[in-house]
Amino acid sequence: MKALDELTFDNRFARLGDAFSTHVLPEPLDAPRLVVASNAAMALLDLDPAVAETPVFAELFGGHKLWAEAEPRAMVYSGHQFGGYTPQLGDGRGLLLGEVYNQAGEHWDLHLKGAGMTPYSRMGDGRAVLRSSIREFLASEALHALGIPSSRALCVIGSDTPVWREKQERGAMVLRLAHSHIRFGHFEYFYYTKKPEQQAELAEHVLNLHYPECREQPEPYLAMFREIVERNAEMIAKWQAYGFCHGVMNTDNMSILGITFDFGPFAFLDDFDAHFICNHSDHEGRYSFSNQVPIGQWNLSALAQALTPFIRVDALKEALGLYLPLYQAHYLDLMRRRLGLTTAEDDDQPLVERLLKLMQNSGVDYTLFFRRLGDESAALAVARLRDDFVDLGGFDAWADQYKARVARDGDYSEAQRRERMHAVNPLYILRNYLAQNAIAAAESGDYSEVRRLHEALSKPFEEQPGMEQYAQRPPDWGKHLEISCSS
Ligand code: AMP
Ligand code: MG
Repeated sequence: MKALDELTFDNRFARLGDAFSTHVLPEPLDAPRLVVASNAAMALLDLDPAVAETPVFAELFGGHKLWAEAEPRAMVYSGHQFGGYTPQLGDGRGLLLGEVYNQAGEHWDLHLKGAGMTPYSRMGDGRAVLRSSIREFLASEALHALGIPSSRALCVIGSDTPVWREKQERGAMVLRLAHSHIRFGHFEYFYYTKKPEQQAELAEHVLNLHYPECREQPEPYLAMFREIVERNAEMIAKWQAYGFCHGVMNTDNMSILGITFDFGPFAFLDDFDAHFICNHSDHEGRYSFSNQVPIGQWNLSALAQALTPFIRVDALKEALGLYLPLYQAHYLDLMRRRLGLTTAEDDDQPLVERLLKLMQNSGVDYTLFFRRLGDESAALAVARLRDDFVDLGGFDAWADQYKARVARDGDYSEAQRRERMHAVNPLYILRNYLAQNAIAAAESGDYSEVRRLHEALSKPFEEQPGMEQYAQRPPDWGKHLEISCSS
């Protein structure tokens, strides 16, 4: 375990120089205080969880203090936003403080979001409000606990600093961790500004630090792109299988590592709804739940375009062709497991599709359905779940097929079935209304609810005593909350 002043820095991105990022100091928050910290994320930096409660912790992550070896930088990038190209974006309110090297030999970027204005702030104030910082914190740690690749969050620091959104709110900072903060948009920036030397430097940097195994391949850059395609296919399959809606899949929010990144108006589905749009500024539903799959491919194509100086176009196209079949294979594999199946049959895909259609028509809670399906034998579970459906004939037909399929799958006890299914079907997910309750309490100075919810979500598959309130369907007011895009 390390004390806060014992972190070891190795700032590899900063060393790329001023063409890639600009030195900017964080702008401190007034009266910084700890809202919540993640012990699991603290462990990634070898930090003793107890240090989160010390005043110096809030000072460091509230922008007042800096390690001597930190080199805070605002990164430049661009990207396609809602399908249109924006020539320059960049860290408008976040700073890469530096890269910490842990005892396991991993590098972690420390990125402080809400750290004030930078040369890339455009019309913004460089700040993040408490509400959105709490949402990013809870989501990143919850996704990780579900087994979905994501950037991580160390802590949220609250403050008295006034920040103006639709109304006056308070500024906060979230400390984000990732092995890299390089986005698709980084490559797009150097491609569209016609800076081939810097683009090559960036590509070498990513290849050497993040995809060293691709160096062994005959065409290292192509191997790296293929790996990025594969990771995205797997990540999005997990989003779809667990009902996660990102909300702003612009290419500047897509990580080069295939991790869930840059949280805005995201949501986990309550009732299953393939057409769900969680971002209220997304009038055409470009980033609706089911569109995430084709948009994943669209974003990879935008990255491929930016990589044309390094990789043959036919090879890029071939690699892009891997996306959909890989996505489908991962998705079906996960859904089979969610249904408690251990073998594969050709008709499993229609079995899943028919179920989702029935859930859609009846507004069935996506998370609780699968959890309850594993509570007891297939026959008893479907008999109990039947009441949630409106189209009873349709559900009975599905249930008969499912029971027959389970019988063919293998001979296992009810306890084995429960254990296997509960290990992949969470009891607790980050429902919007739960986040909203925790935020309302935090805005009035009570951080206990954020901390409890974080605790429940850190073990989503394990029933925890005293956490029953997090395993319920949302109340009516909580079902269709409008999550403001301003953050
Ligand atoms: P986002 O939609 O949060 O991914 O942000 C898109 C771009 O706007 C990024 O370049 C952000 O850094 C920038 N941005 C968002 N909010 C602010 C803000 N309050 N101040 C400055 N820049 C911002
Ligand atoms: Mg962003």
